[in-house]
Amino acid sequence: MRTSDVLANGTKRPLTAEEAAHLLSVEDRGLAFYNDIFAAAFDVRQQAKGREFILDGFLGTVCECTISPPCHYCARATMVDFPPPLGVEEVRDGARYIQGTGTRRLEIGAGTNPARADHIVQCARAAAESSTLRVWVNAGPCLTKSHLEQLKDCGVEEVGASLETINPEVFLRIKPGDNMEKRMQLAREIKAVGLKLTSVMMVGVGSDIEDYVKHLFWLKELGVDHFPITGLNPIPGTPLATARAASPLEVCRMVAVARLVLRDADISVGGMMNDPRLLPLQVMAGANRAIHLGAHVHRPRRTGGFRNWPAAESKEVNDLIFSNLRPTSEAILRELGLEPT
Ligand code: SF4
Repeated sequence: MRTSDVLANGTKRPLTAEEAAHLLSVEDRGLAFYNDIFAAAFDVRQQAKGREFILDGFLGTVCECTISPPCHYCARATMVDFPPPLGVEEVRDGARYIQGTGTRRLEIGAGTNPARADHIVQCARAAAESSTLRVWVNAGPCLTKSHLEQLKDCGVEEVGASLETINPEVFLRIKPGDNMEKRMQLAREIKAVGLKLTSVMMVGVGSDIEDYVKHLFWLKELGVDHFPITGLNPIPGTPLATARAASPLEVCRMVAVARLVLRDADISVGGMMNDPRLLPLQVMAGANRAIHLGAHVHRPRRTGGFRNWPAAESKEVNDLIFSNLRPTSEAILRELGLEPT
C-alpha cells in the first residue's frame, strides 16, 4: 500500500480500516508526510465544513466526580481539594456571560456522580433557558435513559460518553475506578434517544495502532457526531506525572486520519493541545472545532484547570473565573481564512 494512493483515495471517499492503519503506521514520516496528510485532511474538512470553525464555551464543573480511585491522568488524582461545583444560579450567570462573548455553543462539564445526575439536568436546563446557546453536556456514565430524555426535552443537543481508549487493559490501567462497558452503553443510549454523541479519544496513554483503528471504526459505526481527540498531558502529582506527554504531531496525525475516515463529524482537540499557539496545526490537520479555546466560567483552581492566556479577558467575581480566549483564537482563525462561530 502506498501512502500517496491512500491519500488520493481519502480525498474522494472515506478511508477503510486498512488504509487508516497504514497512515498511522508510516514510520518514515517527516515534513513531506505531514504536508501530504494534512493537505488531504484539510481538503476534506473544507468540503464538509466550509470556512466555519466552532469555538465552544465551557462552564463547569457542575458536580464533583465520585470515580474512585480517580483516573490517573486527571487533576483529581493529585488529591488536592477541589473547589465546590457550580450551582444553578451560577450556571445562569455563566451562560449569559458566555453568550455575551459571541459564543454559540456551550459545554456543561460534570463529573461522574449518579447522585447528582438530576442536578446536571437542572444546570443544563438553566443554561438553555437563560441563553440562546446550543448546550451540550459532558458527564461520565451517570446519566440514565430518563436523564437523557429530560436533557433532550430541555433542548440539549449533544451528550458526551468518552472511552479515551478502546483497549480494556489500557482503560483499566489509566481509569482503574471507571467502567468501560458502562461508557459504551451510555454512548449507545445517547444515539438511541436521538441526541448527538460526543466521544473523546486520548492519544499517548498506551493504545496501539490496532486500538486506535478499532476505536475510530467503533465510533464511525455508532455515528459519532463530535470526536474530540486529546493528548496525554501529564499533571504533576498524578500517577502519570512522569509519563511522556503526547506530541502535537501525534495528536494531529490522528485528527487527520479521523477526518479522512469520519468525513463530516465535528472533530476537535484537547488535553495538551488546549493552547491557541497550537490552533493553526489543528486546523491544518482537519479539525473544525475547539472546546477549550473560547470562553470559560469555572472556579479558581490550585491545580490543573485552564491556562489563562495573556491576551484573554479574565476576571474573578464571587469566586468564579470568567475568562475569554476568543479574541486570541478568533484572530488566528481569521488569519487562516476561517470564520469563527
Ligand atoms: S471520570 Fe473524569 S473527572 Fe472523574 S476522575 Fe476520571 S477524568 Fe477525572
